[in-house]
Amino acid sequence: MSAPSDPDYARKLFASPCDFIAGAASLDALPETRLPEVAFVGRSNVGKSSLVNALTGRTKLARVSNTPGRTRQINLFALAGKLMLADLPGYGFAKVSKAEARSWNELIVGYLHSRKTLRRVVLLIDARRGIMESDEEVMGLLDRAAVATQAILTKSDKLKDDELPTVLDSVSRAGSRHPAMLADVIATASQTGTGIPSLRAALAELTAHG
Ligand code: GDP
Repeated sequence: MSAPSDPDYARKLFASPCDFIAGAASLDALPETRLPEVAFVGRSNVGKSSLVNALTGRTKLARVSNTPGRTRQINLFALAGKLMLADLPGYGFAKVSKAEARSWNELIVGYLHSRKTLRRVVLLIDARRGIMESDEEVMGLLDRAAVATQAILTKSDKLKDDELPTVLDSVSRAGSRHPAMLADVIATASQTGTGIPSLRAALAELTAHG
């Protein structure tokens, strides 16, 4: 495969085989791996499964579900033997119990602090909702773990063209108050493919140091 700086590299990388490695409901169950890792995190129903499927050009890699809060484990997928994708359980679903919220927190904080191969977090924000309180809390966790985090908007196809700049601006302002957050915000829509090549390109860079 060509170098990560080649514009075609990202497309080829994400078109390569992507294999399910493990699903882990606890840190102990999470295998140690060697590839540079990128973790996807966001509120339940934000469109995370759809995004992982759109990035990898699969329809069923990550399970798309209409029942918020169903994925309670960390799922690992190895892309082209070069990049590990970690699909983290969603948060912020109103109906979860305090105990469930606590166990989410424990798993995610533990993961963020202990995962030696973790290079980047992608924080998904629903374009129609913007930053919510639970997203703010998660940005605080990301600051404390000091993991470079790329914010993206999902479902941006649901916004009118003139609404998008306002939402992008408010999300990047919220991000600017958090040291973990990278400056740019990418607007994506899994259903139309908007922003998917840009996100692939940003993530392909991580393989350069792997
Ligand atoms: P998850 O719970 O975060 O994994 O979210 P899913 O990927 O299961 O998506 C939740 C719902 O949002 C589903 O009904 C998807 O069809 C819908 N959805 C996901 N991405 C998009 C998008 O880019 N545009 C639109 N319009 N709907 C989307």
